[in-house]
Order: sequence, then C-alpha cells, then structure tokens
Amino acid sequence: MKRKLIISVLTVCLTISLTPGPLEKTIPTAYATSKAEEGKQKLKDIKSKQSESKAEIAKVQKLIDEKQKGIHEIEARAGALNDQIAKLNKSIEANKKVLEQSRQSLGNKLKRIYLQGSNSYMAQLFAADSFSDFLKRYEVLRLIVESDYQVFNEYMTVQKNLEKQQAELNEKQKSLTAEMEKANEAVKQYEAELDKHKSELEEYEKQENAVLKQYAGYFNSGSGQLGWPTTPGMVYWNYMQFRGNHYHKGDDFPRPKGTPIFAAESGVVLRVSTSDPDGYGVYIDIQHPNGLQTRYAHMFLSTVTVHAGQHVSRGQKIAEVGNNGRFIGATGYHLHFEVWKNGHTVNPKPYLQ
Ligand SMILES: [Zn+2]
Repeated sequence: MKRKLIISVLTVCLTISLTPGPLEKTIPTAYATSKAEEGKQKLKDIKSKQSESKAEIAKVQKLIDEKQKGIHEIEARAGALNDQIAKLNKSIEANKKVLEQSRQSLGNKLKRIYLQGSNSYMAQLFAADSFSDFLKRYEVLRLIVESDYQVFNEYMTVQKNLEKQQAELNEKQKSLTAEMEKANEAVKQYEAELDKHKSELEEYEKQENAVLKQYAGYFNSGSGQLGWPTTPGMVYWNYMQFRGNHYHKGDDFPRPKGTPIFAAESGVVLRVSTSDPDGYGVYIDIQHPNGLQTRYAHMFLSTVTVHAGQHVSRGQKIAEVGNNGRFIGATGYHLHFEVWKNGHTVNPKPYLQ
C-alpha cells in the first residue's frame, strides 16, 4: 500500500518534471557580442598566421622535392660514371699486361745483343775500320731492335692515354661528389626550415586552442556576467517551476549526449559530487571570484575532466551532457544548470543574457 503510494507520487513528480518550461531563443547582450568579436578577431589573426606558415611549408617542401630530384639525377650520373671508370680500369689492366710483355721482349732482345755484343754484335761494331763502316754496322743493329721498340712505344702511348682518361673521370667523379654534398647540405637546411615552420604551426594551433578555450563561453553566446554552460541552442527557462514536491532550482539545456559542458566563468572547482542528491546524478560546483557559484548536473562521471580544487577558466570544458540522475533516461539528455548567490539559488537567466 505504502509502496503503491510512493510509486504514484513519483509518477506525478515525473510527469510534472517532464513538462517543459517556457522555451526561448537567447539573444546575446552587447558585452557578450563584443567579447565574441574580440575572440573571433584573435582567431582570425591566428588563422592567417597559420595559413602563412602552411604556405611556407608548401614552398619549402617544393624546394626539397626539387633538390631531391636533382640528387637522384646526380646519383644516376655518378652510377654511369662508375661504370665507365670500371671499364677503363679493365682496359688499363689489359694494356699493362701487353705493355709488360712488350717491355720484356724488348729487354730480352737488348740483353741478348749486349751479351753477344762482346764477341759478336758489339765486336763487329767496334771492329769497323772506318767511321762510315761503323755507321753501317750500327744501322743494322738499330733495325734489329726497332720493330720491337715501336711496338713498345705504341703500348706506352696507349697507356698514357688511358691514364689521362682515368684522371679525367676521377676528376668528374670528384666534382659530382662535391655537387652531391652541396645538394644534401641544401636539403638539410630546407628540412631545418621546414621543422621551424612546423613548430611555428604547432604553436599557432596551441594559441588557437587557448583562444577557443578562453572565449568558448562567449562564442557560445549569451551572457553579460556568465558564459553559457554549454553550446548555443534551446533552453527551458524553468527555474522555480513547481515539481509537485519541490521547486526546480535551475534551468535545463536539452542537448545531444556528449555535448560539452563549459565552466560559465573562471573559478575553482568546489566539488564533483557523485552521491546523487536530489536526483542530480553527478554534479560539479564551481566557486567564482565574483561570489557566484554555479552547478552543472546529470553528467556521467566518466565524462568529468576536472577535480575539486582545480582552477578552471571561463568556457573550459568540464564534462559532457548526460542523462544521469534519479530518473535516469526519463528526461532525455540535458544539462541542469544552477546559479547560487549567498547560499541560495538565483534565476540563471539574467546572468546568461
Ligand atoms: Zn533540471
């Protein structure tokens, strides 16, 4: 019997609590508008710096690509040159062999002449009885070695030529190596430049996030004194709506699951309460320097990103919209938002508009 009564009371409460209050579109005040403009201008400046950085990155990347293309060309040339040098080295080795053979054959002949000379060739030479006879005998000797000498000389000339070519190719290789080193050095410099621009860009992205965080409350529009506790959109201005056994102490912001909840003003987190008092599910209280306190309810603990004692800035994301609480799921996903002054709740609307 008692149980039945409780269920029927709860049903009445639930029905009343599901009845939405007046639904209004919020018109931002001049203050909020100017703050939002200030934030937007800052974002615009950062964005333009970002696109400058991006343009620089694209430019430097193009230079790097070109240089690398050049390096590949040098590599191809160096490869061809290496082949040429290897071929030439083979020719030089082959020529050295025949040159050596020719030198030996010439040497052997000269040695034979010399060895026999004392008793034959040389003796005959010096046995000449006149100068003209001497010349005649000498001419015969000369003819004997001349053909070998000529062959030797030809190989010698070929060898000199090959060595000259080798020196030229080595010189070319040296200059290609220098060219390659220069190109690699240039790439290194470009890459350093690229890194610089990339860290610049990172820095701008940080700045962008900081501005987004700083001005989130204003971008979300609304307030003179407090920023909006979530994204712009519908609000049930149902503060002090009678709920059968209690009055509704805040306003409700129906939003899809996971919509960010923002700190309405900078301050210190007083508590993250999980004891589900009054069907809040989980709620967060923030103490602001201007004496106000704000309360945010119905989120799930897993989405809460702040803890008691933590300093938060206006517009900072503190949690996500959920449907946690006594009537879990029944009222749909929404943020329940309260403003407290001197220990009592006050109507949030004037602070948000
Ligand atoms: Zn509510």
